Amino acid sequence: MKAFVFSQKGIIEEKNLPDVRLDMTCEADRRAAVLKPRFLSPCSSDVHTVFAGNGPRRENLVLGHEGLAEVVETGPEVRDFHPGELVAVSAVMPEPGDRTGHAGMPFSGTKLGRNIDGMWSEYFRVPDADINLAHIPEGLSAEAALMAVDMMATGYTAAEEAGIEEGQTVAVIGSGAVGLMAGAAARRKAGPAGRVIMIGSAKDPVSAEAAKLFGVDIYISYRDGSLVYANDRRDLTPFAARDPRANASGSPAVDEVFRSTGGYGTDAVLICGGGPEALIQACDLVRYGTGVIVNMAYIEGSGTVSLPIFSLGRGMSGKTFKFELSRGGRDWTERMLAEALSCGSVQGRLVTHRLKGFDSIPEALELMRRRPAGLIKIMVEI
Ligand code: ZN
Repeated sequence: MKAFVFSQKGIIEEKNLPDVRLDMTCEADRRAAVLKPRFLSPCSSDVHTVFAGNGPRRENLVLGHEGLAEVVETGPEVRDFHPGELVAVSAVMPEPGDRTGHAGMPFSGTKLGRNIDGMWSEYFRVPDADINLAHIPEGLSAEAALMAVDMMATGYTAAEEAGIEEGQTVAVIGSGAVGLMAGAAARRKAGPAGRVIMIGSAKDPVSAEAAKLFGVDIYISYRDGSLVYANDRRDLTPFAARDPRANASGSPAVDEVFRSTGGYGTDAVLICGGGPEALIQACDLVRYGTGVIVNMAYIEGSGTVSLPIFSLGRGMSGKTFKFELSRGGRDWTERMLAEALSCGSVQGRLVTHRLKGFDSIPEALELMRRRPAGLIKIMVEI
């Protein structure tokens, strides 16, 4: 079968690999399924993996973890999925007995394209099909279902792990698809009395339009701290100049959040982009005592990260940091799919670009890497 393998840093290469088949004498295969990808979306984490990571983890690793696929074959112990069905495949896969996956758990998440082969091949295998595949509800668009398996799953994990409550102020750093979904989830949890502030690239109007659509109240450019838009800037108590040490990275966007919140900062920060500096900014932005920071962003490199001591309560305050991978598994994925259905498939609007055919996978990855203006996510229809 044809497959795109990650052969060396910066290179995705087409290869002929042996067909994926189930071996019924193998215990694990009795619970597994073989599927054929139908709709795929290269993820920005694929871009990091291929172009910025430390190279392939092993030979002939097939990438690809965001997709909808047709079930081709199932092991005899698979009860809920049948050949011919179009299903959503959870990007992160829990082990049996652990249906919520990795977030908040010891590392048990199997990940397609990481420790097992992913979907960028004519056929691929999913272990424990009954807990890792998800039924797509009738009436949900393919685009929205595709955006549920990783973008929503990850963004909603951030809001869930932050324990956002009604009326709270939440900052989201990063305006890509995960940031937008984290914003949407924060909006849901904080309710109309709460506030969602996004610090994003603001490089094209598509990003701001999407932020509005998903309920972000205030959108601030990370470059210069300018307000891209502000639907809600109700707390305009004169901004008492804070100790300059409270903004350790000197970010104008951090200053603008302080200004927009009367110097209060935020109850939670969801980091969905922005590089290592985002950790410093999040620490500066989140309030003392109960503030929670959840990092969902891919941290590149192998050095160290730093934190601002002044904002950590001059060295001794309670700020909670969480470093999470998306929740996964069938339960979480089906929750995302149901949420997308209840929103009228609006998540499908994250798909701004479409390509056709298996052979267009490298082109889609390259497009994700270049990120032309107006691009949020790509859907490849096989
Ligand atoms: Zn991903």
